[in-house]
Amino acid sequence: MTPEEFRQHGRAVVDWVADYLERVEQFPVQSRVAPGELLALLPEAAPEQGEPFANLLADLDTLILPGITHWQSPNFFGYFPANASGPSILGELVSAGLGVQGMLWSTSPAATELEMRLMDWLVELLALPDAFRSDGPGGGVIQDSASSATLCALLAARERAVRQGARMENLRLYASTQAHSSLEKAVRIAGLPAQSLRQVDVDPDTFAARPEMLLAMVHEDRDAGLVPFFVQANIGTTSSMAIDPVREMGEMARAEGLWLHVDAAMSGSAAICPELRWTHDGVELADSYCFNPHKHLLVNFDCDAFWVRDRSALIQALSVLPEYLRNAASESGAVLDYRDWQIPLGRRFRALKLWFTLRWYGAEGLRDFVRGHVALAQEFAGWVRGEPRLELAAPAPLNLVCVRHVDGDGATQRILDEVNAGGRAFLTHTRLDGKLAVRVSIGQAHTERRHVEALWQAIRQAA
Ligand SMILES: *Cc1c(COP(=O)(O)O)cnc(C)c1O
Repeated sequence: MTPEEFRQHGRAVVDWVADYLERVEQFPVQSRVAPGELLALLPEAAPEQGEPFANLLADLDTLILPGITHWQSPNFFGYFPANASGPSILGELVSAGLGVQGMLWSTSPAATELEMRLMDWLVELLALPDAFRSDGPGGGVIQDSASSATLCALLAARERAVRQGARMENLRLYASTQAHSSLEKAVRIAGLPAQSLRQVDVDPDTFAARPEMLLAMVHEDRDAGLVPFFVQANIGTTSSMAIDPVREMGEMARAEGLWLHVDAAMSGSAAICPELRWTHDGVELADSYCFNPHKHLLVNFDCDAFWVRDRSALIQALSVLPEYLRNAASESGAVLDYRDWQIPLGRRFRALKLWFTLRWYGAEGLRDFVRGHVALAQEFAGWVRGEPRLELAAPAPLNLVCVRHVDGDGATQRILDEVNAGGRAFLTHTRLDGKLAVRVSIGQAHTERRHVEALWQAIRQAA
């Protein structure tokens, strides 16, 4: 494809995406295709001869769209917000156009330095601890996902503990029963035994970790000759947006010499609004922290922001230097090489889409965006409180509301089934204290009050 052909077809693709975003609200939110339906329509082998580009665009409409669940629909209330936005999509396009590998500073200095500066911007915007800034011993890096951030934090902490003489099989780590499954996966990947992960009980009303249980477990393990080394606190669990007592857990972690990782993947974006920063109380005690701009800050997947207080711990765990990557800039010590901050070697220029998004909306624009959804969710929670057939299944501190029918799981399941069958909105579920709950996650880029109102009518009808 020549640059001239690219120009022509590129315009058609941008038009196609713009048209899609314009009409996304009209599709049934959840895809209706049956398993294998698309497979049966696709040729069994790749084409021998190239094809006209127009064929591709036509197939997007006929083959692909029916198999899409419309995460960008303003009526998507499932799982978590997966925001995309114009500036972010365009930043992604530029990143693909430049096609650079940002693994070392020297493989494209702009990729590293823009990322460093943006991560420092985010420290200011979210009022995160100064210790995370890259002009000290700490620093931030963009990971593909919170799962990777958690794994890197765990590996850094494991390395530190092993260097201090602990044996892998004796290591113990702690997180609430509500922690994201990525922690359990990280434990497996890190080669730690399954029993090394200890689950801390939560308060039955708030689903937040009970710090006194954490402390009891740490002491019990120490008395048994084991080595507590890591604790994860959640700011917004995926299931119910529960917020752990980070300060108390952090103080315990400090006193006991544990690495504190804060998983704010789901709700960290809230801290961009000063009035929502109470959710981040105690975060200055964290050794590492992550949140997902790709969930609720208008940056399309993938973009997880991850910081550490002491980058040398991370680099000691992850740096391996083959001869063919040696270079003067790295050896001078004057630059950061982000390959040492992550699992893969290669890395995308993700900072561009974050940069485009931050500059297009500005901090004020992003605050309005987050605030608007939190206000809608609070209004929705008020409607639930006023409806005798429904109840809140968990506190709704931010933009997630968990709802159940007072008649029990059967009636709650009917709400979920009826709303989703209608196709006008999409909801997912969770189980809290053993009971089914419908999750209403409000945060899509174009969700407005009218969409939330329509959802409320559908839920009431089904109840
Ligand atoms: C979504 C989520 C994750 C995992 O996020 P990925 O970026 O998809 O890996 C981890 N923790 C919490 C609390 C989440 O909500």
